[in-house]
Amino acid sequence: MVDRARLAGLLARERAAYADLHPRSAAAYARAGNLFGRVPMTWMNKNAGGFPIHLDTANGARVTDVDGHGYVDFCLGDTAAMAGHSPPAVVEAVTERLARQGGASTMLPTEDAAQVGAELARRFGVPQWSFALTATDANRWAIRLLRAVTGRPRILVNSYCYHGSVDESLIVVGPDGAAVSREGNVGAPYDVTATSRVAEYNDLAGLERELAHGDVAAVLMEPALTNIGIVLPEPGYLAGVRELTRAYGAYLVNDETHTFSAGPGGATAAWGLDPDVVTIGKAIGGGIPIGAYGISDPLAEELLSRADLDLVDMGGVGGTLAGNPLSTAAARATLGEVLTDAAFVGMIEIATLFATGVRDVIDDAGLPWSVNQLGARVEYRFVSPAPRTGGASAAAADADLEDFLHVYLANRGVLLTPFHNMALMCPRTTAADVARHHEVFAAAVAELIA
Ligand code: PMP
Repeated sequence: MVDRARLAGLLARERAAYADLHPRSAAAYARAGNLFGRVPMTWMNKNAGGFPIHLDTANGARVTDVDGHGYVDFCLGDTAAMAGHSPPAVVEAVTERLARQGGASTMLPTEDAAQVGAELARRFGVPQWSFALTATDANRWAIRLLRAVTGRPRILVNSYCYHGSVDESLIVVGPDGAAVSREGNVGAPYDVTATSRVAEYNDLAGLERELAHGDVAAVLMEPALTNIGIVLPEPGYLAGVRELTRAYGAYLVNDETHTFSAGPGGATAAWGLDPDVVTIGKAIGGGIPIGAYGISDPLAEELLSRADLDLVDMGGVGGTLAGNPLSTAAARATLGEVLTDAAFVGMIEIATLFATGVRDVIDDAGLPWSVNQLGARVEYRFVSPAPRTGGASAAAADADLEDFLHVYLANRGVLLTPFHNMALMCPRTTAADVARHHEVFAAAVAELIA
């Protein structure tokens, strides 16, 4: 449907316009010679324009860059800012802790942490919570605990999952069906096929085949894949996963870091799931770094009764800053006052507007693309019907097309998540913001197929 030469021409035109529009960001990028890759973290070089816009201010669903442009931000820190940028309740709580009460890193518990644990237990249904600073670490530590209680060596994940920079998760189903290390895996400490198993999402037969080896400590999964487009569960799939994990003695970990968009208790609550462990990060801190994992009572009891596990000092689970007073104050305010049950109702309504409008543009243009929604999160994919596995979704990637849409939108004041065509709604995203996206998206599509 899309003429490649035309696409290449449009992409070059938009990149040139991007460079013209962002001289200060370009200069800041050029000056940052003591940053590895000229950015604070190398993934910030993943941007369609050739260099990242540099942040000036952010508030609610908006950001401004150092060139003075304003944007509607549907990226929202790839979910870390799902509460909106600097929500007043979080600013107040963090200021209170840091400036008035004092103490960001004291190695002492606060009442806030216990309140956050109670709220996460209410929302996700798992009762015993512990903290990290990132979702990656929440996953790493959950994995360690589950290896310890099962005495089993391997972790099973879905092909083309993302759970952070967790060594065990960088595995995919290869072209001949056998597990292989994920392309680009940096300096892998050991062969990932020795530590992990992999099955395609929505493939219960594949999952059973892998679990039948009897060496899987835990299945670590997102209830819906969100990092290779949104891949939704087919009827019966998640119930089947639960049944099979129980039958083969593997624990089930729901990574809710992104699927939290499904509702106040993530997909776990929205879909009535019953995992042994829930991991999460990003959004619950309202922009302040945090991760957390929740485990069942029996699991907590068993772990605490094991004299051979060093859960206090050098055992490999923990970090000095985990559970710090600042993160937990931020999380208490975020969960208590910003990402409330009521807020999700509005966010999901706005996301439905977003999905409907994108579908209309795609249908009017006759493009074979698809749109999936997961609560407050929407993503379009350049294939229809929507892929049912991570492998199929990866195969439908189109880097040039994605770059064109991202840079076209950025040049007209709309930001999507750099790693996908993902749009997320925060409590302050408005119908007008969504309409602005649709207007620009429709114009981009019209140019593409003209
Ligand atoms: N789990 C999931 C499902 C994620 O999408 C991500 C990040 N995109 C992570 C974990 C890791 O989060 P962090 O980078 O904050 O460690």
